[in-house]
Amino acid sequence: MRPMMRLTSVTLAGLIFAVGAIVPVKAETTVFEGARLITGDGSTPIENSAFIVDGNRIIAVGRSGEVTIPAGSARLDLAGKTVIPALIDAHVHMGYRKGLTFGPENYTRENLIDTLNRFAYYGVAAILETGTARGDLAYQLRAETPPGALLRTAGRGFGMPNAGPGGPMRDSAYGVTTEAEARADVQELAAKKVDMIKIWVDDRNGTVEKLKPNLYRAIIDEAHKHDIHVMAHIVDLADVKDLLRAGVDGFAHMIRDKNVDDELLALLKARPNVFFEQTLWGERRAIYAARPAWLDEPILRETFSSKEIEILGEEFSGGAETPQAQRARAMGQVNLRNTARLNAAGVTLAVGTDSGGVTGEEFFGLGTHIEMEIEATRAGLTPMQALVAGTRTPAKILGLDQLGTVAPGKSADFIVLNANPLDNIANTRKIDRVYLRGEAVPRAAMRAKWQAGAGSIR
Ligand SMILES: [Zn+2]
Repeated sequence: MRPMMRLTSVTLAGLIFAVGAIVPVKAETTVFEGARLITGDGSTPIENSAFIVDGNRIIAVGRSGEVTIPAGSARLDLAGKTVIPALIDAHVHMGYRKGLTFGPENYTRENLIDTLNRFAYYGVAAILETGTARGDLAYQLRAETPPGALLRTAGRGFGMPNAGPGGPMRDSAYGVTTEAEARADVQELAAKKVDMIKIWVDDRNGTVEKLKPNLYRAIIDEAHKHDIHVMAHIVDLADVKDLLRAGVDGFAHMIRDKNVDDELLALLKARPNVFFEQTLWGERRAIYAARPAWLDEPILRETFSSKEIEILGEEFSGGAETPQAQRARAMGQVNLRNTARLNAAGVTLAVGTDSGGVTGEEFFGLGTHIEMEIEATRAGLTPMQALVAGTRTPAKILGLDQLGTVAPGKSADFIVLNANPLDNIANTRKIDRVYLRGEAVPRAAMRAKWQAGAGSIR
């Protein structure tokens, strides 16, 4: 709500009188009643719940009839609905994708805001831009809190020269060759108060030089001196082990060259806060053997052009059995196995999709939901574990204390669903409404704008 709407009711009544009852009356507090509430902390859902929102904050949560309702509260009946916390996607590349195009020329204020709105439409409350920022735009938008999802950023990431992120994002990263350079660049990021530091430790199947261990040790050490966490893009088990020994805080992908082993599990046991993202969405082609059912869901037509949906569908049509396709499929299977093994071992798993990147493409928001579906149907997580991986866990990783759960004191960021995602994780996409910071996201208006655009410019 806008600050004016947060005046006390007495003042507001006076204001209405003063201007002749033109100011719309907006209740101080709203009670959302009757939904099944999945709070995001992994606990048993609250059936027939009631929670109270005051301005942009949740002030009380409980069972209907057991929560004290402030006099004058507006009431919203959510009987038959399920409420989950808004999602968080901790691996996104902002600004390069715009419809079917992919390039740095798309990195504009308008396109970044449109992308944040697309996430909001799907109930994503915050995203982390993972190391491919250009200039100061991301910092500016972070400071402004524009409409849509909150933007958090790792600024520019690190690789060897010309060996960081893929495709047209490549030049955004720092290319470092000395420890002194690496430390100076970390200091530059620290001055901008980045929310994470991203490094690429990958030789891209033998085509580029992998970030050297002495360099990533310098980056991690310098980042920790500034209280900033470091997450690494990786593929190989051996690199993950050495990065753990170097003190890295998390991983932007799953290990995909080998099955995880006991040595790794022992290293992780000593570092329980280390997180892994799986980017299963980014590897969808390698994971699905047939056309996924979700391609026909209405939410795709609400947010993407028919051409985009057609191209997305063609990704699953098989295609030539190239060595690259075979390698990708093998890596996808290792990813699923390793995710299941780490989950069983109690390792921290967080949703991150690579949306906006080379493999994530422009399906912002959709990818975040499909990530949880793949986790809960093919990678050993329960639907509840997948929901926690998409809510509370990434909130914690990003230090977003106000997000991740529906609980007193938290920001009022939640999704109202028409069906229960614990019955079928695909139900996270049966979205009735989305609330961010206490306000209903204007989904119908967004949809109308995108559908109008889809006819003319795509
Ligand atoms: Zn990425």
